[in-house]
Amino acid sequence: MDRPVVVCMPTSEPDYTETATVQKCSKCGIEIWLAENTVKHIKASGYEDFDLLCVSCADGQVQEKMKSEAIMFMMPSDEQLAEIAASQNVPFEDFKKRVKEGVERMNMAANFAQN
Ligand SMILES: [Zn+2]
Repeated sequence: MDRPVVVCMPTSEPDYTETATVQKCSKCGIEIWLAENTVKHIKASGYEDFDLLCVSCADGQVQEKMKSEAIMFMMPSDEQLAEIAASQNVPFEDFKKRVKEGVERMNMAANFAQN
C-alpha cells in the first residue's frame, strides 16, 4: 500500500488546531505542525505510516518523487478542516470544496507524471 504524504504548515505559521504537535519535515527537518485529527484520520483510512513534509518541500519532493513512484495526497479530516475554516471565518463547505479541488489537482498532476 502506498504511503500517504501529509503536508504540514511550518511552526513559523500559526497553528489552526488545538491539538497539533510539533514534528519535523522528513526532508529539510524544519519544525511543522501535525494535528492529532490528521493522524486519527490517516489511521482510520487504513494507513499505519505516512511521510511528513513541510509545504515548501512538498512541491519539490513531489515533482521529483512522482517520476518514479505513485504519490497520493489525502484530504485533511473534516474536523481539521472545520477548525481551520472557523479560525479563518470562512464557511466550512466552501473551504472544504476548495481544499478538495486542490487535492484532486495534485493527485491528477501526480498521475500524469506517472504515465
Ligand atoms: Zn521541508
